[in-house]
Amino acid sequence: MRKSIPDYYAKSIFDVPVSFFKKEGFQTVLLDLDNTLDSYDTLEPSSRVFELKKKLVDENIRIFIISNNHGNRVSHYAEVLGVPYLAHTRKPFGKRLRKFLIKEGVLLEKCILCGDQLITDIPCGKRAGIKTLLLDPISKKDQWTTRFNRLFDRPKRKRMKKKGKIKYMEDDYGKENNNQR
Ligand SMILES: [Mg+2]
Repeated sequence: MRKSIPDYYAKSIFDVPVSFFKKEGFQTVLLDLDNTLDSYDTLEPSSRVFELKKKLVDENIRIFIISNNHGNRVSHYAEVLGVPYLAHTRKPFGKRLRKFLIKEGVLLEKCILCGDQLITDIPCGKRAGIKTLLLDPISKKDQWTTRFNRLFDRPKRKRMKKKGKIKYMEDDYGKENNNQR
C-alpha cells in the first residue's frame, strides 16, 4: 500500500515553483510526458514546457523525460525539447528506471519523479528508490491503457485525499506565479 503514497502532491507541474525543488535538495527532476507535460496527442512540447525546462536548467537542475510510451513518440518530443529521455520505462515497475538513473550517475536520494498517474508513476518512483510528486492529469484525453488505469486511480486518489495522506506541495511553497521569473 505505501508504495502508492506520493511524497508530494500538486495540481499541475506548472504550478510547482523551482524553489520547491531547490529547497528540498533535488538535483534531478524526472518528468512523465503524457498528461503531465502535454496531452498524449500533442506531438511537440508546448511553450510552457519550454519555459519550465529553462527555469529548471537555469537552476542547474538536471531533467529527464521518463515515459511508458513508445520510442518514436517520446524521442521526437524529447529531442524537440532538448532533454534526455527514457521510453518504455515499464512503470509501475522500478527496475528499468533505477538502472537508467544509476547509469546516468544520478544521485537517487536527490531525485524526484513527477507524474499524473497514482498507480504507475508513484510506485515506479518508490521502487526505484526516489521521491515522487503526484499531479492531476492536465487533460481529460487518455490512451486506452491509461483510461483503464484511471478506473483505479480516481477512487484511490479520492480516498487518499480524504484521509489526509497526500502532502500538498502548495501548502509549503505556494503556487508558481507565472508572470514572475
Ligand atoms: Mg502520464
